[in-house]
Amino acid sequence: MTGPLEVDVAIVGGGIAGASLAAHLSAERSVALLEREDQPGYHASGRSAALFSETYGNAVVRALSVGSRSFLVTPPEGFSDHPLLTPRGALHVGGPTHDAHLARMLEEVGRLAPSTRRVSRDEARALVPVLRPDRVASGVYEPDAMDIDTNSLLAGFLRVAKGRGARVVTGAQVAAAAFDGTRWRIETRAGEVRAAILVDAAGAWADELAGLAGAEPLGLTPLRRTAFVFEPPPGVAVERWPIVIGADEDVYFKPDAGLILGSPADETPSPPTDAQAEELDVAIAVERIQEIADLPVRRIVRRWAGLRTFAPDKTPVAGFDPDLPGFFWLAGQGGYGFQTAPALSWSAASLILRGALPPGIEDLGVTAEALAPGRLRG
Ligand SMILES: Cc1cc2nc3c(=O)[nH]c(=O)nc-3n(C[C@H](O)[C@H](O)[C@H](O)COP(=O)(O)OP(=O)(O)OC[C@H]3O[C@@H](n4cnc5c(N)ncnc54)[C@H](O)[C@@H]3O)c2cc1C
Repeated sequence: MTGPLEVDVAIVGGGIAGASLAAHLSAERSVALLEREDQPGYHASGRSAALFSETYGNAVVRALSVGSRSFLVTPPEGFSDHPLLTPRGALHVGGPTHDAHLARMLEEVGRLAPSTRRVSRDEARALVPVLRPDRVASGVYEPDAMDIDTNSLLAGFLRVAKGRGARVVTGAQVAAAAFDGTRWRIETRAGEVRAAILVDAAGAWADELAGLAGAEPLGLTPLRRTAFVFEPPPGVAVERWPIVIGADEDVYFKPDAGLILGSPADETPSPPTDAQAEELDVAIAVERIQEIADLPVRRIVRRWAGLRTFAPDKTPVAGFDPDLPGFFWLAGQGGYGFQTAPALSWSAASLILRGALPPGIEDLGVTAEALAPGRLRG
């Protein structure tokens, strides 16, 4: 950048949150998307398990996921060369002691995903033959859970944003931001940016960025989650397996481009950082996978960790800060940032441009108050 860049809206954070909002807003406003790293999507958005499940998360998250489905199934012309969703299915499995838990799960989620059903041990094993009959007594099967092509989703939003004139600036760590009551003056490593609105889409760093800009933090907590991919046993056809999730949500595994992705579903509080997988967490996952499935982990091809950042009530935050005008929060997407991105970014853009949620989102039972940062300030 040469000289100060003047825009209507500066979005800090080039993950899926910032990119999706940039795509919406740039239809009506000049936008700069500021990312610290050399490429967008380096942190949480480059490390997800890429699942779309309308039964996952609390009521607001589920509604936002339902509201995102049509975009993901039928994105705008030219958005992506590949389908954004491909069938996967999700199978929650438990032993005899999980019976009541699985029944409750079905009751809760059946309303939003009516195709979800209880399955017997035999049906579960027909879907995933390696499940151990002595450990898996039954399951809840959600056939409509999907894999998301997260790279294409992120790339699609970035392409739309750039096509509408948004400036995507990498290597632009925001070091300071000051508001004079009308405009922000934002100091970045790549130069100065001036904007009427500053959007905090900084993922695990959202509270830290707020501090830099003079806003009170919201108590967002980054939680580390570990994942790894390993080779399936020779001769076992895994590609059509659903994701298998332990009923206690303490382990999952799913096919991933010819390999199997496993995770201990860990949630270890962490400062905002470039998270790395720890050996112990990988070992715990391997052990838990072995408990429910005859699935030897012979060679781990790659391991990683990422931060899932949650608000105290586990609901995403989208709204203007009640005490600092011009500062808009888009944070706390937790473990649902991809599956909610279309509806959440549409909601955030509408809150910025029109001060209200789009009717299509309100119809799903989501309110502006439920997303507003003020709810977390007591
Ligand atoms: C292991 C794992 C599995 C997951 N599985 C799923 C799943 O199956 N389905 C799903 O929907 N979601 C899943 N998620 C969650 C999803 O990945 C996140 O919710 C989402 O990526 C969050 O996006 P974001 O844009 O808010 O954050 P990020 O992608 O972290 O982006 C924030 C960006 O802000 C930048 N930044 C921070 N501070 C500054 C600054 N001062 N200046 C400039 N830039 C800054 C960072 O560099 C970063 O790139 C998973 C996450 C993990 C880790």
